[in-house]
Amino acid sequence: MSIQRLLRPHIAKLEPYASARDEYSGEEGIFLDANENPIGSVTAAMYNRYPDPYQRKIKEKLALIKRVKPENIFLGNGSDEAIDLLIRAFCEPYTESILIMPPTYGMYEVSANINAVAVQKVPLDSHFQIDLEGVKRAITPQTKIVFICSPNNPSGNLLSQEAIQEILENFEGITLIDEAYIDFSPQASWLAMLEKYPRIVVIQTFSKAWGLAALRLGMAFAHPEIIAVLNKIKPPYNISKTTQDLLLDSLQYERFKNEMVERILEQRAFLEKELIKFDFVEKVYPSDANFLLVKMQNAQAIFEYLLSHKIIVRNRVKVAAGCLRISVGTKEENQILLKALWEYKSKGYILI
Ligand SMILES: *Cc1c(COP(=O)(O)O)cnc(C)c1O
Repeated sequence: MSIQRLLRPHIAKLEPYASARDEYSGEEGIFLDANENPIGSVTAAMYNRYPDPYQRKIKEKLALIKRVKPENIFLGNGSDEAIDLLIRAFCEPYTESILIMPPTYGMYEVSANINAVAVQKVPLDSHFQIDLEGVKRAITPQTKIVFICSPNNPSGNLLSQEAIQEILENFEGITLIDEAYIDFSPQASWLAMLEKYPRIVVIQTFSKAWGLAALRLGMAFAHPEIIAVLNKIKPPYNISKTTQDLLLDSLQYERFKNEMVERILEQRAFLEKELIKFDFVEKVYPSDANFLLVKMQNAQAIFEYLLSHKIIVRNRVKVAAGCLRISVGTKEENQILLKALWEYKSKGYILI
């Protein structure tokens, strides 16, 4: 099915806002077209001009790093912006739906709820893998986007490539693969499949491995037709000049990102090895990400105990029974966590 036919009809027809920088994108000239302050900014640094609405310089560099074309890239104010725009572009409120596989990242459902789009849930199986038959049974003509989070949050594991491939081959809507944690995983990105599957959208972020969570920068990679739709419906200047400048600079340091990933992976292995030593730890789920999902006796009590020691982990007992999600910290942070857990054990709270 073509992208245009999948879109909500009014989005397919939409005439977008043409910003001043849409109508003239050169860098040289006397700019009297955008009602900016010609004198300067109140700050020493100059922020008086609107930024490039399409972040062209960034996309040129990023395309080389990711081995895609600039036309395959959308940048959003966090991945959340791309997720919201995709739902708004493809899903008709009150009639159409997205499909998610819980336990998974909470924003898919929240974003659908905000847009009055129904959420079909096909839970992952007991190994946190895709229930392919369940997904096939659940899909209807109203299902517009299937959300696949791999490595999955909060379970941490990669989802089966074969199962994802089956969905890509058979589902006629948009298959979104959220790769927020791909840098920590041993598997190659689905980006390599962009040419093969015109209805795949791969989401990545600068918030995790790159260490730029405060900048709020998410990436969506897809067929140029899908990217053009996102560009058409996004707020014109969605990425600020400061953010664009900082990112352009950061992209030089991919090697440093890779080094940090290596260090985090070493700590993940250490933490996993140490955590399974506690008798109250029932299971440390295998992780392909920068966190561990840990099943414990008394998870709620341990969560509160850690909190009282100012150690904050994510309480996931409501989405994964008895589980806490622990981000891999620095060596020092992990040692403090482990020390607190030994103290908890030695105080015998577990016997209560
Ligand atoms: C952290 C995370 C993101 C990143 O969100 P940003 O808005 O880019 O910070 C996306 N997807 C998943 C599954 C995540 O865990």
